[in-house]
Amino acid sequence: MTEPLLRVEGLTKHFPVKGGVFLRTHGHVHAADNVSFVLNAGETLGLVGESGCGKSTVGKTLLRLTEPTRGAVFFEGRDIAQLDGKSMRALRRDLQIVFQDPYESLNMRHTIGRIIEEPFVIHRLGSTEERRRWVDELLNRVGLDPSAVNRFPHEFSGGQRQRIGIARAIALRPKLIVCDEAVSALDVSIQSQVINLLLDLQREMNLALIFIAHDLTVVKHVSDQIAVMYLGEVVETQAAMSIYETPRHPYTRALISSIPIADPTLKRQRTILTGEVPSPIDPPSGCRFHPRCVHATDRCSAEKPGVRKFDDGSTVACHHFESLPPFKAVEN
Ligand code: SF4
Repeated sequence: MTEPLLRVEGLTKHFPVKGGVFLRTHGHVHAADNVSFVLNAGETLGLVGESGCGKSTVGKTLLRLTEPTRGAVFFEGRDIAQLDGKSMRALRRDLQIVFQDPYESLNMRHTIGRIIEEPFVIHRLGSTEERRRWVDELLNRVGLDPSAVNRFPHEFSGGQRQRIGIARAIALRPKLIVCDEAVSALDVSIQSQVINLLLDLQREMNLALIFIAHDLTVVKHVSDQIAVMYLGEVVETQAAMSIYETPRHPYTRALISSIPIADPTLKRQRTILTGEVPSPIDPPSGCRFHPRCVHATDRCSAEKPGVRKFDDGSTVACHHFESLPPFKAVEN
């Protein structure tokens, strides 16, 4: 069997909660627990769930921007935790991230020319002339005028700033980009422009994308595979072409039922999610979704559901997924 580009096994990240005069650890935020998935070159994984469910932590941990508590990330078959500093620096060329808020990632005091040139400088690539030419080509490629090279990020709109972030992310021709809520803050029309740009780049460069989003609408048309997270855990993975019709997990069903439908003659079979997402410091016993699940039984609060794997690679973690009523995406 060929090794996928990325294999994530049991990735776990707990952040200590400190307090008191001596700043002792008195708990942990369970940001990500036992997250596993695979991603092939040129494919897109949509990673979805409500705010605070741990998606961004997974994105940053698998790029080793933060160290995992447990678990392993294999990139082209190599365990990235075992790489020394030099090998990790070389690998960073292949792994990039685009954040939701460019203010977080773009230095507002630098011109966009300097921002986009930075990866070449860090990796000591090209002469000054070559780097200037590459920056112009990258600006062109993301739909920005190279004459803007001496302007500053605050002079651009939100969508244009995301294009600057993408230009920098693709500068070293990476193999994987994590798009961490990269279009969530943009207007719908600008969202689709930025998504189309990412998809064009994916085709040209055989890029793998991890598309992190808090709702299923954004990832629907871009993903090959979707992983749904709830309170730090992946509760379901399935091919994007089937999950919207046959979601197995009650939480996935609830997320799909909240997607608006454009056709006024059709309506959704609604499952309203009640209550807040519980604290990740003290997650509920058994199935973490049980306090909000309309299908919960006594077993659900007492026993953690195992992950059921199917022949096509999809997974679900629910005691009762086989006995749930049929899911109807829409009703007349
Ligand atoms: Fe709901 Fe129980 Fe399934 Fe959890 S295990 S999703 S509580 S039915």
